[in-house]
Amino acid sequence: MEKDYSKVPNTVAHLGDDYTQYLGAVVPPIFENTLFTRKEKSFGYVYTRVDNPTVKVTEQKIAQLEKGNHALLFASGMAAITSSLMALLSSGDHAVVVRSVYVPVKAFFDTTLSPRYNIGVTYVHGDDLNEFEAAIQPNTKIIYLESPSSNIFLVQDIAAISKLAHSKGIKVLIDNTWATPYFQNPLELGADVVMHSASKYLGGHSDIIAGVIATKDPELSTFGWNERTTYGACVDPMKAWLLTRSLRSFPLRMEQHCKNGLKVAKFLEQHPMIERVYYPGLESDLGYKLGKKQMRGYCGLMSFIAKAPKEKVLQALKSLQYFEEGPSWGGYESLFNFPGGGEPEKLAEIDIPSGLFRISVGLEDADSLCGDLDNALNTLK
Ligand SMILES: *Cc1c(COP(=O)(O)O)cnc(C)c1O
Repeated sequence: MEKDYSKVPNTVAHLGDDYTQYLGAVVPPIFENTLFTRKEKSFGYVYTRVDNPTVKVTEQKIAQLEKGNHALLFASGMAAITSSLMALLSSGDHAVVVRSVYVPVKAFFDTTLSPRYNIGVTYVHGDDLNEFEAAIQPNTKIIYLESPSSNIFLVQDIAAISKLAHSKGIKVLIDNTWATPYFQNPLELGADVVMHSASKYLGGHSDIIAGVIATKDPELSTFGWNERTTYGACVDPMKAWLLTRSLRSFPLRMEQHCKNGLKVAKFLEQHPMIERVYYPGLESDLGYKLGKKQMRGYCGLMSFIAKAPKEKVLQALKSLQYFEEGPSWGGYESLFNFPGGGEPEKLAEIDIPSGLFRISVGLEDADSLCGDLDNALNTLK
């Protein structure tokens, strides 16, 4: 019987699994070898820096999840992103970039691509198509999006921006780490390259650093492969294997992150000590309408500003019982972080309001998480 892999949960559970090839093992083995011998016969693999069967299983699943036909795993999200940029940009080119992208990505433009490789960059806030249009120059090669973006979760109109870009021969790259392919498929909306930190929800257990890119344009059918191979930015097969393990529960985890996220965001929004919540799942959020058009749901990462001095808020959050303080996100555990703690002028350069706190809502019981936040916030009264 032909199996139907068109539904997402089937895809992540079974696609790429070939029981007949591996002695019926329900979990495919880890090919933790460097080279592949070929005296009698070549099986198509040569060297694990180039390609590896364990890595390929994960790549097939992610390509399908992103509705693409090509996916490549990398050693980290940053390896996937920097390799994509190096693949598309040459000296003398220009890029239009959303200002609130993941901070190390902006730093790569500001400290490496722009001053050392002569690549022009124009930053835009990202919520106005006219701003993109005005930023485009004759030598613009790429538009770099992250929707929703880091820390303030600004939603960009992927379809409209892609249409504009393509009318001028410009490629659109998008970091889809927040929404994940479970809730958003930018390739279907017109984007050319999707990039992820698989260290977040795709990995989902706070135990893997990895990255991935996906494309569907036949012109990009080997996209990133040369960079990954040359820079040695390959993922370890063990990590790829763990990622396949993670993908089997991916739809379940994302459904729960969405439920928990919405519950906590709504709780925060009505709390008397909260000034503003940044979360595109809330109807009050500036990105709600557009987000609903291009996303099917929301993850558990959100930010807020409280009605108290930021140092006091930080102290209050340190009293939380379920939320640990730490960077990153996407695991089963709830976390808080303080991106809005720096100098206001420096924060303005990355579109972060002063006093912004970020929380990652994990997979714990949502009522307990709300109660925990309530206790902490009430100490600010
Ligand atoms: C974490 C993150 C990255 C970088 O990924 P690593 O796996 O840590 O290299 C890129 N983009 C976003 C939005 C992220 O949150």
